[in-house]
Amino acid sequence: MNKKTKTIIWIIVAIFAIVLVGILISNIFGSAKTLTIPEFIGKLASGEINELYVDAHKWTGYTVVDGRVTVAYTVTMPSIYDFSSFQAVEEYINDCLKQLAQINPGSYPESFSLMMLSRFEMADPNAGSVWSSFMPLLGVVLVSLMFWLIMRSAAGAGSGNMSINKTKAHVQSNLKVRFSDVAGAEEEKEELAEVVEFLKSPKKFAVLGARIPSGVLLVGPPGTGKTLFAKAVAGEAGVPFFSVSGSDFVEMYVGVGAKRVRDLFDMAKKNQPCIIFIDEIDAVGRRRGAGLGGGHDEREQTLNQILVQMDGFEANDGIIVIAATNREDILDPALLRPGRFDRRINVNLPDVKGREQILKVHARNKPMATDVNFKTVARITAGFSGAELANLLNEAAILAARAGKKEIGNLELYDGINKVLMGPQKKSRVVTESDKRCTAYHEAGHAVLACLCKNCDPVHEVSIIPRGRAAGYTMTRPETDDNDVSYNKLNDIICMTLGGRVAEELVIQDVTTGASADLQHVSNIARRMVTQWGMSDKLGLVAYDSDQPVFMGMEYGNQSRGGYSQETAATIDSEIRRLISEAHERAIKLLKENRSILDNMSRVLVEKETIYTEEVQMLMKGADYKEVIAYMDERDGAPRKNPFVNMTTPSSEHVVEEETQEQDNKEE
Ligand code: ADP
Ligand code: MG
Ligand code: ZN
Repeated sequence: MNKKTKTIIWIIVAIFAIVLVGILISNIFGSAKTLTIPEFIGKLASGEINELYVDAHKWTGYTVVDGRVTVAYTVTMPSIYDFSSFQAVEEYINDCLKQLAQINPGSYPESFSLMMLSRFEMADPNAGSVWSSFMPLLGVVLVSLMFWLIMRSAAGAGSGNMSINKTKAHVQSNLKVRFSDVAGAEEEKEELAEVVEFLKSPKKFAVLGARIPSGVLLVGPPGTGKTLFAKAVAGEAGVPFFSVSGSDFVEMYVGVGAKRVRDLFDMAKKNQPCIIFIDEIDAVGRRRGAGLGGGHDEREQTLNQILVQMDGFEANDGIIVIAATNREDILDPALLRPGRFDRRINVNLPDVKGREQILKVHARNKPMATDVNFKTVARITAGFSGAELANLLNEAAILAARAGKKEIGNLELYDGINKVLMGPQKKSRVVTESDKRCTAYHEAGHAVLACLCKNCDPVHEVSIIPRGRAAGYTMTRPETDDNDVSYNKLNDIICMTLGGRVAEELVIQDVTTGASADLQHVSNIARRMVTQWGMSDKLGLVAYDSDQPVFMGMEYGNQSRGGYSQETAATIDSEIRRLISEAHERAIKLLKENRSILDNMSRVLVEKETIYTEEVQMLMKGADYKEVIAYMDERDGAPRKNPFVNMTTPSSEHVVEEETQEQDNKEE
């Protein structure tokens, strides 16, 4: 800790002392009258109370005349009500009024709106807003000025957003999200249904002595619906939902994050049963003591505070903490211990069936053309997350609207898929003729090899229109959801990926930098084949590398991390090199033998920029580029036809296989 942080801490301590004295003074001089509920409501309705502060169940009202508080009242509201929202407070007051009017007709107004007050606040329990209304304005200004000065001095060139006192938690009650809005993830739903059950009636479980997990960790890649799930649990159980993001806790002042955690849990405790959702928990929950150069006091304190709070739960406390992460590997093991996040639910990318259901959920309120078949769309979107599928439908809707259509058709869906896959199309980028020729050969190299290697997925689309950061692209899409890949398939993928570079070598006799992403991909695959999947005879069936990504610091002090020697490292390198160079030789040989196809395809590409399955197949059968171009000209006179046609006709055994599989599924 350096001198600067020390002074800052002292200043903060001093401020807290002032605040404390202020509260004491306010309690001595401004002693508030405690009223009964009817009295309080009556004063509210008559306008006698014109400022209202709701701190969960403790309400404070003031009669303010000319900006000065003349009288203060407090009342304790029944704890069964949830006053976490504006509407809830208003509704409650109105209910009371109705009841009072029945007892004593005529003396109460019919309805009451919070807008009638000159001031209304949902007080943060620790923010001290009650106190601030007592203190002269000057004091408030002075304190905020000091805060501001400290922030300035510590943050250097003023980086914003520093609300030190607030929890930053968002509270939502009456969430409308239900399990039916989360499509496809049946197993996950089942596991979470238990949590819902518990939140609905914590007593039932407590009586039987059942220990319900206080923490549930949702693990999965981005966009798979983790946040959606957490909300659905709150929605189904009908409990308030407190959400924060791990990164909200991370600020530069030691102690702030920990205080936020405390505030958050305090707030939650007053609103049981409820859910606390911590998104991106990896931002605070990283392994302690990792990281270079230390200086992570803040994060560690925050994490410790979370642990302390979770350990403090009583068995039948109605609070469940749900956390989400896509980096479970870097989480501090302490988080995963019993009594903390001991329930872990994997939220995976959806499979074919899941994708179809997600598409249907998101198409609910969109007009879809009658010939749209979600089964087909689901089939060619392997690897898409729920968020990407939602995005794809949205893109398709935008495209349809732009084209002035009334319904979303196959064409828009198809373009939507591409948009999501590649980022927005960049037709405007200026490409010179020689660039174009080079890219055309590069992509044709990929495409020809993809067709020649029998284990590669079928080629769908080849294009030299730049998208995202790529100059062109060759799209292959698997026909099934196979996640396991064989040795032969991996070799073929390496070969096909090298195809771009090889075509450049062969034709242009020079290489460009365009292949760097390809090379990266190839080395990754080859490395994993050797070190993880036991696909090298020389090294045998040993996993030398875990799948864990290296994260700052963890592996640095740990030189021989796989626990293998220098020689083994050398063998690994030589095996990787061998795999790649064998595939390279094969790629050169295949492309040399099929040079005319390569030439024809790249000429069509230069001319037409994008070609699809049909043209690729013609070219592979030896069609001349003139023939293909003429064919395309003729066809393109007519509007583009349904791009899914090629995929729906069962042209290969794969499709047949999959259909029988689906029948099996139905029988289950
Ligand atoms: P995560 O928190 O895992 O990154 P989100 O919950 O924020 O993902 O998901 C983003 C959006 O993607 C959701 O709002 C929803 O529209 C869509 N989505 C993701 N998964 C699903 C699913 N299983 N069913 C329906 N929609 C989904
Ligand atoms: Mg999320
Ligand atoms: Zn490439």
